[in-house]
Amino acid sequence: KLVSREFQQEDTVVDVQGVKIGGLHLGIMAGPCAVESQEQLLEAARAVKRAGAQFLRGGAYKPRSSPYSFQGLEEKGLNMLAKAREQTGLKIVTEVMDAAAVDIVSQYADVLQIGTRNMQNFHLLKTVGKTDKPVLLKRGLAATISEWLDAAEYIMCEGNYNVILCERGIRTFETYTRNTLDLGAVVAVKRLSHLPVIVDPSHGTGRWKMVRPMACAAIAAGADGLIIEVHPNPDVALCDGKQSLTPANFSLLMTEVGAIAAIR
Ligand code: PEP
Ligand code: MN
Repeated sequence: KLVSREFQQEDTVVDVQGVKIGGLHLGIMAGPCAVESQEQLLEAARAVKRAGAQFLRGGAYKPRSSPYSFQGLEEKGLNMLAKAREQTGLKIVTEVMDAAAVDIVSQYADVLQIGTRNMQNFHLLKTVGKTDKPVLLKRGLAATISEWLDAAEYIMCEGNYNVILCERGIRTFETYTRNTLDLGAVVAVKRLSHLPVIVDPSHGTGRWKMVRPMACAAIAAGADGLIIEVHPNPDVALCDGKQSLTPANFSLLMTEVGAIAAIR
């Protein structure tokens, strides 16, 4: 398989408009769960840039469990992301939820995010596989490592080899955490595949106090980067405030992660 270490021995380095992830390059993505307003987004963007992130994350289309929850600003949100890129130089990572939206999201995004709920949306995988945009493929919330790698294969066999995997926690019997962050999967996937793997300790734990230690653990385990939810004021976030870091805590995280990366 194209995704396998047997097919390619060297680590894949994904180049996002000059910013590299994989090999020895750590990619740090941070920003709010959802784009809420231009002001909120710019404040988050400036803060994460100052702390050393290279990518701004933020959903314009949100896959919410309830249809009554905030669904995202859609194209208006994409516009705000583009403005934040203009002002900060950060690369944009944002979710595309269905194949019909791949065209429009590609006009704004530097990295197309496939969410956990869509990991086996094979039509969507094939559609992003036909683009030349790097893809961030989140692990399905009940997907085995092998199913996750097969999902990456769907993208690659359409011709797009720029796939970044993301461990974001899986469903287990545990309820204290929102999901169970499977850091063993990072080690396993680095053996099985040449693709870069990043970790999302925000969705992986659901609790902001656990984000910094688990981010450090992810880097110690060999992850090629992180995606972290950061909000200027988590208490009033429209989505995922409980797992979002303040800019000050994100800055602390970056210092600790930097120290671990330097000795690994
Ligand atoms: C997100 O990154 O905001 C998100 C919805 O993540 P996931 O698909 O992992 O739940
Ligand atoms: Mn979120």
